[in-house]
Amino acid sequence: MKGICILGSTGSIGVSTLDVVARHPDLYRVVALTANNNLDRLYEQCLRFRPEYVVLRSEAQAEELRERLSAAGSRRIEVLSGAKSLEEVAVLPEVDGVMAAIVGAAGLLPTLAAARAGKMVFLANKEALVMSGQLFMTEVASSGAKLLPIDSEHNAIFQCMPADYHAGQAASSVRRILLTASGGPFLRMPLDELDDVTPDQAVAHPNWVMGRKISVDSATMMNKGLEVIEACLLFNMAPKRVQVVVHRQSVIHSLVDYVDGTVLAQMGSPDMRIPIAHALAWPERFDSGAEPLDLFSVRQLDFEAPDLSRFSCLSLAYEAVRAGGTMPAILNAANEVAVASFLDHKIRFTAIPETIGHCMATISPGAADTIDAVLEADRVARASAEAYVDRLRVQ
Ligand code: NAD
Ligand code: MG
Repeated sequence: MKGICILGSTGSIGVSTLDVVARHPDLYRVVALTANNNLDRLYEQCLRFRPEYVVLRSEAQAEELRERLSAAGSRRIEVLSGAKSLEEVAVLPEVDGVMAAIVGAAGLLPTLAAARAGKMVFLANKEALVMSGQLFMTEVASSGAKLLPIDSEHNAIFQCMPADYHAGQAASSVRRILLTASGGPFLRMPLDELDDVTPDQAVAHPNWVMGRKISVDSATMMNKGLEVIEACLLFNMAPKRVQVVVHRQSVIHSLVDYVDGTVLAQMGSPDMRIPIAHALAWPERFDSGAEPLDLFSVRQLDFEAPDLSRFSCLSLAYEAVRAGGTMPAILNAANEVAVASFLDHKIRFTAIPETIGHCMATISPGAADTIDAVLEADRVARASAEAYVDRLRVQ
C-alpha cells in the first residue's frame, strides 16, 4: 500500500484524486489531507478516508474540526494548522506520494519540500513550478524524487515521450511539443465585448470544470502561458520548441513531434481523473472512472493558431520564459493578484494582462538561484500589482 498526501484535497483536483483513490482501496492509504478553509468538505473527507493528519490554514478552524471529529467519535486524526504544517505532512516517512493540488504560490514550499524529501510528486500546482523554475527541477534531480505531471497537457506529453523518459531529461529525438488549448469561453467573442465580461462568464469553461482561478486563466489563456513555461521546465525544451495549438474539442490533450516526422498524440475524454490515474498508477495503469472516448460523438477535431492580439497573456508568458530569472515568478504573482481582483469585481477582465504587463515592464528580474530570491520577487510583484489595481479602481 502506498501512503498518499493530498495538498489541496478540497479543490477540484483534490476531489478528483480522492475519487480515483477510492476506486483502489487496496493500493492506497490516505495519510494526510489539507485545505485552506473549506471545513465542511474536509470534515466529510475525514470521515470517509480516515487520514492520520489533516491541515487547515487557521488554528480557529482546526479547533472547530477537532471538536466536530471528536463529537463524531473520531479521535485518531491529528488536526494541524498553518503553512509550516503543510510542509511537515508532505515529508512524513509514511507518505510515498504527494499530490500537489494547492492553487497558486501558496503551494510552492510544501511541493518543494516533497521534492526535496525524494517523494513521488504528482504536480498539478503549475504556479509552484513556474515560480521556482530550474531550482525545482534541480531539487528533483538531486533528491531522486519522481515527478509526474498532472496537468492534462503535460501528462499527455509525458505519455507520448520515449518509454524510459523522466521529467527534466533532454529528449534529443523530439523536435517540438504541441501544446493544445481549448481557447476558453471567449475564443470567438468580439474583442470590444471583452471589456465587460463578468467573473461568472469567465469561469464557465466550455469543456472542463475546474477551480475559479485556473478557469479565469483559461479565459485569458494565461493558463496556456503558464503551461508553456511548465513544459519548457518539465521537458527541458527551449520556448521556441513549444508551440500552442488551439483545439476546440479538448480531445487531444497534447502532441509530441519527433525528428523522424512521427507525431504522437494522447487522447481521451476531458476528465482530470485520467491524468491523475495515469500518474498514480505509473508505470502501470488502472481504472480512473472516466467515460471511454466516443469518437463518433466527437466527430471532428479542429486546430488553429492562437490569436495573440486577443490573448496577450500568452505573449507575456513567452516573454517571461525568454527573460528567465525571476521574471516567470513576477508574471505569476501579478497574474494571481489581477485574477483575484477580477473575481472580486475590482477590475475589468481586460485589466488582467494590463496589470501583468505593467509589473513586467517596471520590475527588473534577478537571478532565480535561491528560493528566497523567488519569494522576494513574488512579494515585490504582488505589491506592485496591488498598487496598480488600486490605481485602476479609482479611475
Ligand atoms: P481549487 O481552487 O479547486 O482548489 C485549490 C485547493 O487549494 C483547495 O483545496 C484549497 O483549499 C487549497 N488552497 C487554496 N489556497 C490555499 C492556501 N493559501 N493555503 C493552503 N491551501 C490552499 O483549484 P484546482 O482547480 O483544483 O487547481 C489546483 C491546482 O491544479 C492549480 O495550480 C491548477 O492550476 C492546477 N490544475 C487544475 C486543473 C483542474 O482541472 N482543476 C487542471 C490542471 C491543473
Ligand atoms: Mg492544463
